[in-house]
Amino acid sequence: KAISDLVASRLRDVADFPKPGVVFKDITPLLGDADAFGDVVRALAARHTGSVEGLDGLDAVAGVEARGFIIGAALALELGVGFVPVRKAGKLPGETVQRTYDLEYGTATIEVHADAVTAGQRVLLVDDVLATGGTAIAAWDLLSDCGADVVELATVVELAFLGGREALGERAVHSLHVVG
Ligand code: 5GP
Repeated sequence: KAISDLVASRLRDVADFPKPGVVFKDITPLLGDADAFGDVVRALAARHTGSVEGLDGLDAVAGVEARGFIIGAALALELGVGFVPVRKAGKLPGETVQRTYDLEYGTATIEVHADAVTAGQRVLLVDDVLATGGTAIAAWDLLSDCGADVVELATVVELAFLGGREALGERAVHSLHVVG
């Protein structure tokens, strides 16, 4: 599909980042191309403006630090809703709700402001890349803890060989470009 090919053409593979053996999908070429960035944001938004049943009527977009902020903030503006930052622990000034999840080595904690969403709000979760799904699951469940109704995870790139979609289980995923 055209949007998948466009994303593919604006990704850069960086070998051995952030550690040996990993091929990192760098989205900065996409962000630097205004036409491509705009097309990606509009493609993500299109599912939530009435074209797909049950996905419209959003109250907020939540994005995961840090690249999820870039895509998510643009998407929130495109959809005319507010933006909720899901941050690494210790960055938000107010009272927060947290979730801790396992990494390959150790754990990570993410959090949102306790008053960032109100019960029953329909929230779209956004990140740039879905890899193993650990981050997305923690963010999704964190928003649910706050009472949000998370409608979908939207990502620009899905690294299918890492099994994120399967790990997410019942949680719905929409990716513009699937690798592997
Ligand atoms: P996961 O928790 O699914 O294993 O990893 C997803 C998180 O790590 C996302 O927040 C994403 O930004 C980041 N990430 C993992 N691999 C890549 C990659 O190859 N490229 C980019 N841009 N981000 C990645």
